[in-house]
Order: sequence, then structure tokens, then C-alpha cells
Amino acid sequence: GAKALGRGAWCFYTEEMTQSARDRLTLESRLRLALAHGHMVLHYQPQIDIATGRIVGAEALVRWNDPEEGLIAPGRFIPVAEVSGIIGPLGEWIIGEACRQGQRWREEGLPALTVAVNVSPRQFQLTDLVGCTASALQETGFPAAMLELEITESALAEREDEARQTMRRLRDLGLRLAVDDFGTGYSSLAQLKRFPIDVLKIDQGFIRDIPHSADDMAISAAIIAMGHSMGLKVLAEGVETAEQLAFLRERGCDSFQGYHCSRPVPAAAFAALVRAQQAG
Ligand code: C2E
Ligand code: MG
Ligand code: MG
Ligand code: MG
Repeated sequence: GAKALGRGAWCFYTEEMTQSARDRLTLESRLRLALAHGHMVLHYQPQIDIATGRIVGAEALVRWNDPEEGLIAPGRFIPVAEVSGIIGPLGEWIIGEACRQGQRWREEGLPALTVAVNVSPRQFQLTDLVGCTASALQETGFPAAMLELEITESALAEREDEARQTMRRLRDLGLRLAVDDFGTGYSSLAQLKRFPIDVLKIDQGFIRDIPHSADDMAISAAIIAMGHSMGLKVLAEGVETAEQLAFLRERGCDSFQGYHCSRPVPAAAFAALVRAQQAG
């Protein structure tokens, strides 16, 4: 770094530091503090089986509950966590907390629910994801078969052999793997076949304009058919209307998430949704 270049270089570096680099540093240290002080929280969005209409799973989505700013969306801090390396400890906390919550719901007598956890590309490539997941399962007692990890296409595109090996080792723990935001990357059918995947999540960008975009309807239908022909389950993200759901049902899509059912909500509210469904 600049330090190795001597005193002058160090000063030069400081003076030339851009506003955005300074902002990032501030955000970085605030993120570390937030994690240490327990200001991170997971919200959960229902995943619904289209055939039965039942809630069968929960996607865990992280929020930063800042005492001054309130809830901060992951889009504002996950990218910084990724480049700064905070994604290591943050990702570890997220997997641990999701498994703890999943196990709590079991102990509270809720029907079987899978818990899906997002894994960012760097977390997948650079941290001990297998070891961290194995410890979380062991420490919480949450069954591996109820855990799903969501990985994006971009994480699979780089260093393919290593990616495939990591996925095999995760699968060997007994959990399921989903490809998140499917259709936005560059994976081909042939490429996908080489990875041990269980679920395709159709990106919400393809769902948004249904039923007005013939292209998006064709793409979504093709992803469902392709996924099924490969023995995968297919989930549609970002379903907001009854029309979108009707289209997906007609095409045989397995499950969905979206505001049509519920926004992501705190754990207690999620449990209440499941109980209300059980009752009625
Ligand atoms: P994602 O995993 O694809 O999550 C879906 C995003 O779409 C969530 O935004 C969710 O709140 C939102 N969403 C759900 N239903 C609808 C809908 O019907 N309409 C619309 N317009 N949006 C909907 P959120 O929570 O802000 O998360 C954004 C992204 O941040 C996630 O995309 C994921 O890539 C990342 N992320 C969230 N939580 C985590 C986490 O715990 N770890 C990591 N590594 N990344 C996370
Ligand atoms: Mg996701
Ligand atoms: Mg997604
Ligand atoms: Mg996304």
C-alpha cells in the first residue's frame, strides 16, 4: 500500500483520497460496530407452494437497524461488506441467526419450514462457508435438510472448479442449493448442468411486466420448462399481482415469493402469518 512508499506517499494518498473512499471508510467502521452491537436483524419473506397455497419456507433478508437512521436496506451495505471483508463475520452471523430462528420456530410447533439464506459472491469464494454452515447447523440443531443457501450466477461464473467443489461439500452437509436472480447472469443450460443445484429462482425483473410483456412471459415459461427438464424446482420472485400468479400456476411454476403474499417481516410477524394460515 501507500505506506510502503514512505512518508510522502502516505500524505499524498490521504490528500488524494476521494470523498467516496472516505464515505466507504466511515460506512465500514459503522458496519463493524453495528455487527458488534447487535444492530443487524433478519426479516423473513414467505415462500408459497403454488399448488397448495401454503407457506413452505422463509427467505431470510438482512437489515441494519441503526439507532438514528432506522432500518437500512441490504443494497446499501452488502456491497461495502463485500469489498471490505466484513462479509466474513456478517455472513457467519446471518447463517447462525437464520438457523437459530428456524430451530425456534420448530420448537414453537410451527409446521416444517425451509429457511433460505443469501450468500454473496465473495462470501462464497473467499470465506470458509462450508465450515461456518456446518457449525451453525450443529450449534443450533436446525436440520440441514431444512436449510437452503442462495447463490448468484456470478459466483459460479468465476473459478468454476472451485465453485463446484464448494457446492458439493455444502450439498454433502445435507442442505439444498438455489440459484438466485436466475436469468440475469450468463449461465447457459450446459453450464448449469455441471453444478449440484436444487432450485432456480426466476429474477423478479422477468416477473414485473407480466402479463404485459410477451418476451418476459416467454422467458419465464422457458426457465420453468428448462428447470423442470433438469429435475429442478422453480420459484418465481417478486410476484405482486394475482395475474402474475395465475400465469405462473398455469406454467407449472412450483413456488413464489412477493408482495402479493407478503413483504419481508420480522420473525414474530412471520410466525403469526403461518399460524393464521393454519387456523383458517
Ligand atoms: P434477493 O435475494 O433477490 O431478494 C429479493 C429482494 O426483493 C428483497 O429485497 C425483497 O425484499 C424484494 N422483494 C420481495 N418481494 C418483492 C416484490 O413483490 N416486489 C419487489 N419490487 N421487491 C420484492 P431486499 O431485502 O432489499 O434485498 C435485496 C438484495 O440484497 C437481495 O436480493 C440479496 O441479493 C441481498 N441480501 C439481502 N439479504 C442478504 C443477506 O442476508 N446476505 C447477503 N449476502 N445478501 C443479502
Ligand atoms: Mg435471495
Ligand atoms: Mg433474487
Ligand atoms: Mg436480487
